[in-house]
This record gives sequence, C-alpha cells and structure tokens, in this order.
Amino acid sequence: MTTTDERHQERMARKKAVIDEKIATAQEERGVLLVNTGNGKGKSSAAFGVVARALGHGQQVAVIQFVKSRSDSGEEAFFRRQPGVHWLVGGEGFTWETQDKVRDAQAAQAAWAEACRHLSNPAIHLVVLDEMTYAFKYGWLDLEQVLHTLAARPPLQHVIITGRAAPEALRQAADTVSDIGNEKHAFQAGVKAMPGLDW
Ligand code: ATP
Ligand code: MG
Repeated sequence: MTTTDERHQERMARKKAVIDEKIATAQEERGVLLVNTGNGKGKSSAAFGVVARALGHGQQVAVIQFVKSRSDSGEEAFFRRQPGVHWLVGGEGFTWETQDKVRDAQAAQAAWAEACRHLSNPAIHLVVLDEMTYAFKYGWLDLEQVLHTLAARPPLQHVIITGRAAPEALRQAADTVSDIGNEKHAFQAGVKAMPGLDW
C-alpha cells in the first residue's frame, strides 16, 4: 500500500469514528416535524418520497393538499391505490385562479379540520400537509393554533409541511428544515409542466 492509500485509510477511519460517535449519541425516538420550503423544485416530491418509505414499512399515512388546482396528479393516482393512504385534496386552487378569498379560506379551514382528525390519531404514522405555508401567507389559518395542534400530536407521529416562504415561527418549531434553492428550472426556459415529472 502506498503512503497516499495509508493516509486515505487513516482519514476515513477518523471520519468513521466521528460519525459512529454521533450515531451513538442520537438515541431519541420520537415524531419529527419537517418543513420543506424554498423556491426550488423538490418540496412536495421529497415529501411523497417519504410517503413511499412509510408505506413500505406498512405504516399509515395521511396527505392533505391545501392548495391544489388539479386532481389528476401522478402522485395522487398512485398513492390512492395503496393500502394505508388517506388522501384529501382540500384546496380550491390557487388564490389568483379562484379570486375568491372567502371560498379559499373556507377550503383551507375544511382541509385543516380533516388534518386535525389525523393529527390526533396515533394510528397515523405520517401526516403530509402539502402547500400549507400558503394558508399562513394569505391568512386562511392561524399559525399559533396550528403550532399548538402540532405540538399536541401523538408523540411518534411525523409531520411534513411543504410550501414556499415558511414563516419563521414554523421554522423554529420544526425539527428538520430543508430550504430548497432554485438554481434553475426548466420552466424558465419555456418547458411546460411535464406529466410524470412535475405532476
Ligand atoms: P415538486 O412537486 O416538483 O417537488 P415543489 O413542491 O418544490 O415541486 P411547488 O412550488 O409546489 O414546488 O410547485 C409545483 C410545480 O411547480 C411543479 O410542477 C414544479 O415543477 C414547479 N416548480 C417548482 N419550483 C419551480 C421553480 N423554481 N420555477 C418554476 N416552476 C417550479
Ligand atoms: Mg409543492
């Protein structure tokens, strides 16, 4: 073995020791609150990846979509066919499409009422609140009240909230926050939203 190989091996051994120590100290088992936010692509699709993971373990999952103009997304078609999935498209569409503030607020509140049912049910392992951040931005839901309900959920239940511009108090309350940046997106180059990739 050359000295370069030996140095590499030593470095890797030191790295492994550090990682092993971190793994050994992370012993807590509890439900985690995740926030997938930012302007880049991947917030909802990352959440649906976790849905697949949870279902693979035979877990029960609830997905509530707060702002959704379409009911023909690939994820909905796929996950509705799986056992253990509770799926609700709650939103009436984006606010600039409906242009009806009262109806938007009512739709968001109805979706939240359904979410609350799952957030008090310990049989549900994972709750995805897709595009929920818009409900705070437009004042459809009271953030304080939502944080209170999230804090009181079953101790082993995971929650993923997606959407741009997550409010600071939500980021503070979360255990894991991923702020996905937009380096570039095909849409900006004129590519339309493609089935199977974007919806
Ligand atoms: P995805 O569902 O693909 O993970 P997302 O949840 O991060 O996307 P949203 O803000 O919910 O993003 O927007 C959903 C739709 O908008 C998708 O079709 C996605 O490809 C598209 N999109 C996401 N980010 C951008 C962007 N920066 N510019 C243009 N379109 C975007
Ligand atoms: Mg999304």
